[in-house]
Amino acid sequence: MQGMMRPAIVGIAIVFAVAATAASADERKQLAFDVVERNAQQMTDISDSLFYFGELGMQEIESTKLLKDTLSAAGFKVELGGAGMPTNLWAEYGSGRPKIAIVTEVDALPGGSQTPGTYERKPLVKDGPGHMEGHNTHGGVASLAAFAVKQVMQRTNLPGTVAISFGPAEEQIASRPFLVRAGYFKDVDAIIYLHIGEGLTTGYGVQNYAAISSIFTFHGKTAHGAVNPWDGKDAVDAVELMDIGFDKLREHLRPTYRAHRTITVGGIQPNIIPDKGQIWWFVRDASMPAAKETYDKLVKIAEGAALMTGTTWDVQYAASAWPQLASKTIAEAVQKNIDMVGMPKWTEQEQSFARDFQKFAEKPVVGLGTAVTPLGGRAQSTSSNDNGDVSWVVPAGLLNFPSSVPGVQYHEWKAAVTPVSSISHKGQVMGAKVLAASIIDLLTTPELVAKARAEFETESKKTPYFSLLPPEAQPPVELNRAEMEKYRAAMRAFYLNKQPRFN
Ligand SMILES: [Zn+2]
Repeated sequence: MQGMMRPAIVGIAIVFAVAATAASADERKQLAFDVVERNAQQMTDISDSLFYFGELGMQEIESTKLLKDTLSAAGFKVELGGAGMPTNLWAEYGSGRPKIAIVTEVDALPGGSQTPGTYERKPLVKDGPGHMEGHNTHGGVASLAAFAVKQVMQRTNLPGTVAISFGPAEEQIASRPFLVRAGYFKDVDAIIYLHIGEGLTTGYGVQNYAAISSIFTFHGKTAHGAVNPWDGKDAVDAVELMDIGFDKLREHLRPTYRAHRTITVGGIQPNIIPDKGQIWWFVRDASMPAAKETYDKLVKIAEGAALMTGTTWDVQYAASAWPQLASKTIAEAVQKNIDMVGMPKWTEQEQSFARDFQKFAEKPVVGLGTAVTPLGGRAQSTSSNDNGDVSWVVPAGLLNFPSSVPGVQYHEWKAAVTPVSSISHKGQVMGAKVLAASIIDLLTTPELVAKARAEFETESKKTPYFSLLPPEAQPPVELNRAEMEKYRAAMRAFYLNKQPRFN
């Protein structure tokens, strides 16, 4: 009997302990949800403002200015311009550990300008950039979630730090390796990577692909193509031979590899032997060591092409990204909050708009999702995201929130139709709630952070992180500047000129 009694008593004790913790955690989350609901308009004012700024990577000047103003006024310590990038924004509140960071971005895409609310092709500014992936929504959701956490920390005397990292130029996978190199995540215990989506979802495992992007330039000697071609050294021949050389290699690469290129300098006119040729390559694979192995072979091919043509060559690092490694431990915690918050309640009008839009876009006519997605590992995608680098130096969770119309693919103008709609706004509210609740869990549950760390140590050790950045590499801060400046004056006419203030 004694033996029977003991476990029962222990069992009751555990139930009481869990119930006590759960109650206070629920109160904190409810407090955060109240803050989110009270500030929903301010949040969507931020997101909508960013939509009309429509700024390309490294040129997120107005966007980060608005975020800095809003977050500073809300009591955050804000650094703009760190790691040598004028539009790199880091905001934080609190002090010491645990330190939990939201990682996201606010850049737009070239050619994405579109009048929102209509799926007739109608750019706001002809050929201008725009948010055809909805990164504008990240600005509002991340800011309000962090603010809600801050209010909870203040009112319930929670120690620790909540931070937001808005990294520049995600679309060019251009900034995160520099952020990692600058040490931003050294004292961070966990991050949650935030991105717009079709559902309210999280996931775990290796999410996407490693990528290395480099520009190879060959230098030769000009000569008349008919009179004395034997005096020339043809740099475009070297480009062609590099392309052919890599095609010969393709058969001997892992089936998981991807490699694509574009010839960026291909000669002047046929009767001039070109002294300059240039080819820009992306090499990808399911892991960074695999991608690096292929990349090293590509470099040897460049060397061979130069040897065959008597040209010289150099290579310039353009960008790189590790595949994103997402924590199962954090995913389980985020999923509980997803289940608690649930999907938005859509109106019949929103549903019928979505169905008509899906029909127009020749996608399955399924309307908007009404149920949360159950937790599961996600299939590894062959795309890349520079946030990957962060996920190999700190345990990382993921959160997607339902602000897009299912089936409407990003990176085409149609995806710019809804980022400022009521569909997007409702999805943002759910995203901010789940994000705030998940950060509260990480701040208040040391066992959760410890378990995520232990899982991270095991998983990340399987492929030890190395940076692809050459030591002398500097962030490409001139990226997109000329393109953005072509359109900025015309885009200004659409600015909302709002100054959201959280309360
Ligand atoms: Zn994105």
